Formats: sequence, C-alpha cells, structure tokens
Amino acid sequence: MDGMSPIQLDEFDHLPPALATVSARDLRSVFPNPTLIRLEGRHKQPVALGVMLHGDEVVGLAVLKRLQAWMKSHPLPRSLIIFVGNVFAAEAGARKLPDRPDYNRIWQDGPEPEHALGQRVLAAFDAADPFAHIDLHNNTGANPHYCCVHNERPDTLQLASFLGPLAMYTHNPPTMFSNSRASRIPAVTAECGQPGEVDGEEAGFNLVMAALHLDHFRGAPDLDLTVFEVTGRIEIAADASFGFAHGIEADLELPPKLENWNFFERPAGSTFARRLTGRQVMTVYDDDRNDVTDRFFRIEGDRVILVKDATPAMLTMSEAAIRADCLGYLMEKRGG
Ligand SMILES: [Zn+2]
Repeated sequence: MDGMSPIQLDEFDHLPPALATVSARDLRSVFPNPTLIRLEGRHKQPVALGVMLHGDEVVGLAVLKRLQAWMKSHPLPRSLIIFVGNVFAAEAGARKLPDRPDYNRIWQDGPEPEHALGQRVLAAFDAADPFAHIDLHNNTGANPHYCCVHNERPDTLQLASFLGPLAMYTHNPPTMFSNSRASRIPAVTAECGQPGEVDGEEAGFNLVMAALHLDHFRGAPDLDLTVFEVTGRIEIAADASFGFAHGIEADLELPPKLENWNFFERPAGSTFARRLTGRQVMTVYDDDRNDVTDRFFRIEGDRVILVKDATPAMLTMSEAAIRADCLGYLMEKRGG
C-alpha cells in the first residue's frame, strides 16, 4: 500500500458469508480495504463498533463471526455501525504496518492518509448518531478483561460494566478511537485478554450483545465496577538489559511471573525489581511525561521498592513490546 495516496473506505450493508471462516491473515479476501458495515436492527439508533484497529488483535474478528452466527436465528435488537480497521496490518499479522500510523492513534485531524480515513469514518459515525461506542482490543500481556473509559459518567460506567468488574480511567491519548467519541456518547475500549483466548472473545461478544439489547442507560450507577486510574507509565532505558529470572546478568532483574501482578494491588514496601548494576534504568512517567519515579519507587541496596500501594496493569514480559512501548502501567483506585 502506498502511504501517500488516499486510503479507500469500502461500505457493506451485511456481513459477507465468507466472513464465517476467514482468518485475520486472509481478512482482505473479505474486506480488501478498511470497511464500514451498517446492519439494520429494530431500534434504529446504532451501537458503534470498532474492530481490528490493531491487525494482530483478533478478538474483533471473532466477535463479528459470533454475531454473524447469532444473527442466523435472531433479529438484531438494535442497528450496528461497524468499522473494520487495519486490514493491511491484519494481513501482515502485526499491530500496525511499519512506518505507518497506529490505527488507534489517528482519531484527530493530522497529516497522514490514515487521519483522513479517520475523519471520514467519524463523519459516518456522527451521521449515524450512535447510542454507544465499543472498540474491541486484545492485550499483549496477561490481564483480566477490562474497559478503558475516558470519563466516569453513569452511562459510560454502565457500558463498561457489561464487560466485567474492572475499568481503567485514562484520558490519554486523545487520538484513541474511543476517546474521540467519549464526550458525545458512552464509549469504551474493551480489552479482551490476549489474542485467541476464547473467554475473551465470549466476553467481547457478551458486551456487544448487552449494548444491543439495552433500551436506555440508567441515570445512576448501581454497579459492581472498580475504576482504576493510570498514574504512571513504566519505561526501561533503550540501552538497558533486563530479564525475568533470578541470577541473570543484566541491568534490571524483574520477577519471573511479572504478568500475574496485573490488576492485583502491590503493597507499599514490596520489592518490584532489582538493579543489578546500580544503573537507574527504570523510569516512571506521568501523562505529561514528567519523571515521577520517586513518587512510586525508592532504592534499598539493589532493590527497587514501592513507596505506596499501586496496582500494575498491562505489565508485559515481551521484550519486543517493552522495547517498542513500555513495561506496563501503575494505577491507583478512583474515589478510594
Ligand atoms: Zn489494541
């Protein structure tokens, strides 16, 4: 694909039969280009759905297949407007194409053809006047299912609670698909576990089903929902070495089951990592890129110790993900 020419946006008014068996790698045999799908249901105000914005996060494709199977024996209770996103990255089995923008970072005006595509999709979504917005994603590391929310309005939190009891409040980045919608309608990014996990696909499908069957949002929250706020992003210096086993030779030793900490509170005073060479290679940043490492960690000998209770999320043991993005995030509970 030539990055400088406009990106074609195809439109469908049905789910093509070939969708039932297509793999993410072959998605372009069904959807050669990014695609808008409009499905008509009993209530005309649609649920808006984003799928495959990240080409290797296949939960959205799995949910579309489940929806297609379900629709064989059930009328749609509410219309749907669906954006099938980065089919080019899906073909490559990657989150995004090299040297092209991330499709979950294009939802504000910008210079690239992908931004123009985003603006066309937003105009179509606005014209459809959606009832709620759900963007389906997978995580890199092991995490429970949770929704990212961008405000704490009761309607937003009710939508988030349809996925499960955990939500993450985050205002950044504003170029995220769900964040670009959140001031208008209840909008969530649903993080449905790792790619290929059947329970995550089921949770994502159930979320969409619940939104489709909802007549109206309740005014007041009466929900079993815990909302966390991301207060730190943990990065490892590009030139630093690290590993996940005791006795390794590296700048930083991290626990062998680091991902098990996701969404479990780590108490103040507990050891988070070890600095084996004494170098300061692990830095925590806030939303504004201020170095807030000292707010979270202190050093005792070679141990990096939490100075306050914090709940990690999206910790990953994938070196590629850590190098390309970050080690993970630290959260604190809202309203508590
Ligand atoms: Zn994603």
